[in-house]
Amino acid sequence: MPKDFLQHVKPEYDVVVIGSGLAGLTAANVLGRAGHRVLLLEQHYKLGGLATWFRRPGGLIFDISLHGFPVGMRKSCRRYWTREIADSVVQLKHIRFDNPMFSLTTEFHRQDFTRLLVTRFGIDPRTVESFFDTARGMNFYDDQSLSNRELFERFFPGRGDVVRLLMEPITYANGSTLEDPAITYGIVFSNFMSQGVFTFQGGTDRLIALMRDELLRNGVDIAIRSDVEAIRVAQRTVTGVRVGGREIQARAVISNANLCDTVQRMVGARHFDRDFVEQAAAVRLNCSSTQVYMALQPDDLLDESTGDLLFSSVAPAFQTDLLLSRHITSRTFSFYYPRTRPQARPQCLIVSSTNARHADWATLSAEEYAASKQNLIETTLDALEKYVPDCRRRVAYVEAATPRTFARYTRHPGGASFGTKFEGLAVSRGLPEQIRGLYHAGSVGIIMSGWLGAINYGVIVANDVDALLTHTASTSHPAGSILAPES
Ligand SMILES: Cc1cc2nc3c(=O)[nH]c(=O)nc-3n(C[C@H](O)[C@H](O)[C@H](O)COP(=O)(O)OP(=O)(O)OC[C@H]3O[C@@H](n4cnc5c(N)ncnc54)[C@H](O)[C@@H]3O)c2cc1C
Repeated sequence: MPKDFLQHVKPEYDVVVIGSGLAGLTAANVLGRAGHRVLLLEQHYKLGGLATWFRRPGGLIFDISLHGFPVGMRKSCRRYWTREIADSVVQLKHIRFDNPMFSLTTEFHRQDFTRLLVTRFGIDPRTVESFFDTARGMNFYDDQSLSNRELFERFFPGRGDVVRLLMEPITYANGSTLEDPAITYGIVFSNFMSQGVFTFQGGTDRLIALMRDELLRNGVDIAIRSDVEAIRVAQRTVTGVRVGGREIQARAVISNANLCDTVQRMVGARHFDRDFVEQAAAVRLNCSSTQVYMALQPDDLLDESTGDLLFSSVAPAFQTDLLLSRHITSRTFSFYYPRTRPQARPQCLIVSSTNARHADWATLSAEEYAASKQNLIETTLDALEKYVPDCRRRVAYVEAATPRTFARYTRHPGGASFGTKFEGLAVSRGLPEQIRGLYHAGSVGIIMSGWLGAINYGVIVANDVDALLTHTASTSHPAGSILAPES
């Protein structure tokens, strides 16, 4: 008989959280810690959502989205998770750019960028300072009509090389374009510029294991392999969820699943005002990704000056639309040296990432798909050769993922890597005004996505839910139980 992953789930909770991405995990943790009765449901067999990893024979562990995040992770993890998690957030020192316009290595913070912009790119120091101050001063309530293109044109007219330095990492990270609102760029870029780029020592598997332990300590019930079929609504109020053919009552539901899927499928358009449904239908999904995972032979150790993150491109100029093409030659390489997982056998791993359109991969036949994946691997090895000479001989293991892979494992329509574009935020925040007790916490626009953005959005929404719940009956604080082991 198939295992019942919902065996120990109670019939009623204060809050059900759908999805265990970083926003869902954090919202569940904050609410559990506050004493609410929380159930966390995850359709996958692992917690973490896109903050994930996979294992391959020979002790290999590849991280999917552990490439870099701002220092703010440390503070958010200390406040909303544990000191042990926060203390494992460590800096990456070698952020490298290599393209036909320039080649350089930087620590990727304001001081170092100022030095580069002034001495190497010949920009007036007052312009540089004014640009950084403007970017840092941006916030949600600002005018959203200013585009990235206009922002750069205002400070660095005609300087394609400067725009490339400032914008390329953010575009590579999440597919944002020169036409996107400048505030989304300004906030994310300034977060990085405060102290540089950080990673998690021990890898994503260690982070998620620590988070799971903390959730259990805070009394959160967790069920994996539990695919929520519907969010129940009566008279414009959430009543619970349907999962595995079972009804679970809840006074609040937080969906960490994709926003569009939440509105259209899990709740259903009939429960919302018509103009809200139209607003939600107009929300664009973010782009997806391809990745190539490579492991060098054990003990073939690269010098760390190769870079932690390497933005490599052979395109003569920077064009954000080209970065989505299936035939792109640009790559972002993440190098994982033995210090990433000090406990493991010394080995260097490399993950190459590119943005990609799901549509370019969705309709390929099985043969075409296999050939395209192989082509992705071959062209990636070609690109890597410049930085890791003789890499075809040195790479002991290689494998590729495509937008189809991301769609399959996360349920994000189109395999969206960063949820939706910025307009999703208003819809996400508008849900409780439409349906009492219904919330969304997850990637919407680049401010509310990425590891830090997702965690912080989870906190914001948990606070909203806490306010709702504390208006009504008091709650008990039962001991947490993990309802299915990780397999
Ligand atoms: C290739 C790649 C590289 C990245 N690199 C970085 C990086 O370097 N730095 C950075 O900060 N960010 C990076 N990101 C982005 C970052 O990983 C995500 O923005 C963040 O992890 C998303 O968290 P989330 O809370 O929005 O939820 P997600 O991670 O999207 O998780 C949603 C969860 O909901 C679950 N779910 C969906 N539907 C249901 C259902 N019906 N029932 C139950 N569960 C359901 C899914 O299985 C999933 O676990 C990268 C992303 C990708 C794809």
